[in-house]
Amino acid sequence: MNLELSAEQTAVRQLAKDFTDREITPYVTAWDRTEQVDRGIVKKLGGLGFLGLTVPEEYGGSGGDHLSYVLVTEELGRGDSSVRGIVSVSLGLVAKTIAAWGDEEQKRAWLPRLTSGEAVGCFGLTEPGTGSDAANLATRAVRDGDSYVIDGSKMFITNGTWADVVLLFARTGGAPGHQGISAFLVPADSPGLERREIHGKLGLRGQATAELALNGVRVPATAMLGPEGKGFSVAMSALAKGRMSVAAGCVGIAQAALDAALGYAGEREQFGKPIARHQLVQELISDISVDVAAARLLTWRVADLIDRGEPFGTEASQAKLFASEAAVRAANNALQVFGGYGYIDEYPVGKLLRDARVMTLYEGTSQIQKLVIGRALTGVSAF
Ligand code: FAD
Repeated sequence: MNLELSAEQTAVRQLAKDFTDREITPYVTAWDRTEQVDRGIVKKLGGLGFLGLTVPEEYGGSGGDHLSYVLVTEELGRGDSSVRGIVSVSLGLVAKTIAAWGDEEQKRAWLPRLTSGEAVGCFGLTEPGTGSDAANLATRAVRDGDSYVIDGSKMFITNGTWADVVLLFARTGGAPGHQGISAFLVPADSPGLERREIHGKLGLRGQATAELALNGVRVPATAMLGPEGKGFSVAMSALAKGRMSVAAGCVGIAQAALDAALGYAGEREQFGKPIARHQLVQELISDISVDVAAARLLTWRVADLIDRGEPFGTEASQAKLFASEAAVRAANNALQVFGGYGYIDEYPVGKLLRDARVMTLYEGTSQIQKLVIGRALTGVSAF
């Protein structure tokens, strides 16, 4: 892999850095306290092309390669994981999946709106009864003439109450497990679809996370994304790239932890000198820096593999596993550098730790990533 960024990659990274410093960082504490990111941010993200990265320009996308997508995601994650997550889901899990699996009509209907930020997408896989074991989901879609009628429920859906379209996974066949699952593009204003925001989250408090209830939701048969019975493959292909995006967000968290710890350690004095001059504080800072560098290299490798058309699933799980655990460690170490001030939200590190914690849980917990990696290495499934 060539670790030198191209002129385009350097420019898009700088654009994202400036955007984060100007439009995100000044507001994160308020968004965290009020549990609401300013929704106007979506159109701004779309205006700069951040919601269309890697999507072909003919569908309103801004093109670019996966390393550019990772660089932008890192910067947004450095600013606020809630904002980063809005992009990772609306672009990463929804628009990119429509671009990969959709027919011409579906691409024309949704991609220009999603990439401009006029519309927001959400990804409905998890249910109250099935999280890690997603292939056992219970939501059903029954064919009725030219339509499907969907009944069921979804849990923990990022962007849930903001979304205009739900990429929804439901059982269409009698086959057990993943073979009977199909994917649908369900307009969020469909009669029978109710959304309830989940409050009181430990982190990602600015982000709208929702529970969805579907009672007799009718969609045309043309709303199916990809072939019937291939919905689980659609979901897994989305999540493989999604894991790279989560990993990139975690690099951003760890970088923010490093920046904050360095700044504070240079200013705060104890025992007559800046705490940066105490060896054990330097240990905390150097540990954070190693986590940042290692997580970044693993994540960039995934982007490079995708851009070269190579298999990347195992590497994406490795990156997500390592980067998410590294982000938690880095934020926790930064909090230690801040001492008691790290424990109050006037300072940024407590929020970094709260936001980082969910990264080891969603898009496959750390245990699930280990099973994915273990299966690839041994050739034996331990699920
Ligand atoms: P469970 O699957 O019940 O797991 C509980 C524990 O058991 C975990 O420690 C797990 O690692 C362990 N475990 C389970 N199976 C095994 C096994 N075979 N071997 C070893 N250990 C095992 N989902 C979506 O579909 N769309 C979203 O947009 C979305 N956004 C989310 C946002 C937030 C803030 C959160 C918290 C979750 C979100 N999720 C979303 C759901 C998320 O992906 C699930 O929470 C996650 O997959 C884990 O499922 P679960 O919570 O049901 O835990």
